[in-house]
Amino acid sequence: MTIANTLMRYQWDDVTLSLYGKTRADVQAALAKSALNWEDFLALISPAAEPCVATMAQRAQTLTRHRFGNTVSLFVPLYLSNLCANECTYCGFTMSNRIKRTRLNLEEIQREVQAIKAMGFDSVLLVTGEHETKAGMAYFEEVLPVITPHFSAVAMEVQPLSEQDYRQLKQWGVNTVLVYQETYHAARYGQYHLRGKKADFHWRLHTPERLGQAGINKIGLGALLGLSDWRTDSAFTALHLQLLQQQYWQSRFSVAFPRIRPCTGGGIAPVNAITDKQLVQLICAYRLFQPEVELTLSTRESSHFRDNVVPIAINTISAASQTQPGGYSAPTEALEQFATEDTRSVEDVIQAMQRQHLDPVWHDWLPGFG
Ligand code: SF4
Repeated sequence: MTIANTLMRYQWDDVTLSLYGKTRADVQAALAKSALNWEDFLALISPAAEPCVATMAQRAQTLTRHRFGNTVSLFVPLYLSNLCANECTYCGFTMSNRIKRTRLNLEEIQREVQAIKAMGFDSVLLVTGEHETKAGMAYFEEVLPVITPHFSAVAMEVQPLSEQDYRQLKQWGVNTVLVYQETYHAARYGQYHLRGKKADFHWRLHTPERLGQAGINKIGLGALLGLSDWRTDSAFTALHLQLLQQQYWQSRFSVAFPRIRPCTGGGIAPVNAITDKQLVQLICAYRLFQPEVELTLSTRESSHFRDNVVPIAINTISAASQTQPGGYSAPTEALEQFATEDTRSVEDVIQAMQRQHLDPVWHDWLPGFG
């Protein structure tokens, strides 16, 4: 029995009923524990916990400072390509969008790396779109040796690959792979992913297991908040995380909280949109449930939201992000994947962190320890 198969034995409607049936007493019981189980997590993300967000935030902040000190790590996305062979109804890179497409060549990548290093970053997230033939392993073999020597940590957000391909990426210097399930509701997943290999819900659901088997150092999980009920999707994400941790305990895990953003072509309106307060509730619930898991917040969120939430429970943030290939050294007409909300410079983000007595960390990984 694979982890994905175990996960699918949980019925969406049953999980929804369970979490919407949680009571204030369930929430209080969860808050009284020092080690929470998955049912406690459901209580903390339930409507019954909404009046307790301030208490949850206080406990989350205490746990975060105990486990991580005052540190918050910084990374930046580097978009290598906006080619994509999938049709996702919520994304500007979707195949049917008739926009300028590009894939960076070695010279352009070197310019991007220089621009990013000049901003101070030592941790980079490579984003490729999902195009197996034009932005697949042959391309990665060509470009990774140009990129990885310049950074202490290299993450990739890439189409789901085979276990063997992930082993190869690791050899080429990739430490972390992010693969978000988008939604764990299989039928809705089909409605949002209309064409291309991404339409295969189960191939994607099994991907974190292939990452674990390949020995990838850090595996990033998440759901795109707004595709289905955010509470139920988060319940499945947390369960997926827990099952993976039990089996692939040598890997570290991170969780991100992307909310649907406007994109070229319009995108879609969120289902049961998560409010700012509910997103704080969700982030705090994760910290109480998983005190050591890395929680990430990107520039999809506003500066106001990030300045208030990062000090509570966040470990890793992006800053000054460009979501178009070539965006740091030579911004062009090439399409952005989505509009960022926090558009501050790196210096402004750091100053905001320091005003909150947080220490920005540029470099928290030595490849030799991998
Ligand atoms: S979400 Fe990913 S796979 Fe879907 S269109 Fe955008 S880049 Fe392509």
